[in-house]
Amino acid sequence: MDQAWDGRCNCGAVRIAARGAPLRAGLCHCLTCQRETGGPCMAFAVWRAEAVTVEGETREWGENAYRRRFCAACGSRVTGASAEDGETEVRLGVFEGGGRGLVPEYELWVIRRQGWMAPVPGARQYERERE
Ligand SMILES: [Zn+2]
Ligand SMILES: [Zn+2]
Repeated sequence: MDQAWDGRCNCGAVRIAARGAPLRAGLCHCLTCQRETGGPCMAFAVWRAEAVTVEGETREWGENAYRRRFCAACGSRVTGASAEDGETEVRLGVFEGGGRGLVPEYELWVIRRQGWMAPVPGARQYERERE
């Protein structure tokens, strides 16, 4: 059966849906993700870009080809994507139930992980980007 993941921003102006199982799920501890989320790291799952639909007004920001998209009204983060790889990362927190069932399989930029945070059991650890 085709799995579907549905979510929304805090104010409800942006709706997001992802179809099928994600390609992978992970955490990123880089400084840009820490600033983006206002938290210790960013949790995401990755789909082919065509499997993800975003409705409603969003804005985007990025310091390179990777664009970080958020609700224009409430600022909830929804996706991140680079056009060239054809993939879209969805922030786990936008999904109903916070993306329960989507477990990070790997962690990026663990050299920036906060000292009080433990590695996710079984998750592959990358010092920086995925090799
Ligand atoms: Zn919103
Ligand atoms: Zn990051």
